[in-house]
Amino acid sequence: MKKKKTIALVAHDNRKTDLIDWVEYNWKELISHDLVCTGTTGSMVSEVINKKCLENNAVPPSITRFKSGPLGGDQQLGALIAEGKVDIFIFLWDPMQPQPHDVDVKALLRICALYNVVTATNRSTADFVVSSELFHQDYKPDVVDYSSYINRFK
Ligand code: PGA
Repeated sequence: MKKKKTIALVAHDNRKTDLIDWVEYNWKELISHDLVCTGTTGSMVSEVINKKCLENNAVPPSITRFKSGPLGGDQQLGALIAEGKVDIFIFLWDPMQPQPHDVDVKALLRICALYNVVTATNRSTADFVVSSELFHQDYKPDVVDYSSYINRFK
């Protein structure tokens, strides 16, 4: 994991205000990394980050926007994680309301655990992640060796 990381940001509707508030507070830490978001979260994140950058004469980060989560965006993000292209995932999912794409949410959390992606599912953890000294450093995560699984029929 390089100093410049790819950070995924996703929030369910009831958690979007929380995430945008967090992004606004941490915009300076975030702009030196590449960001990737599901559709609606991405437009809100872009709006707040671009506003902050404009006000402070800073260069805005690259922000990739996938489809909206329930329309396949979670799966697009999952594919990126499976390719090892996401370092950190801030995922404020809603613990109080079932989602139309609950199966995709579960799959996303599973793939993060599988590939040892730094994952924050609440603001406190997101605060700890962003304030870790590793946030702006190279870091070598333990890569789980799945070769015996891949070769199980050989
Ligand atoms: P959204 O998707 O950013 O398009 O709202 C989030 C989600 O529910 O996964």
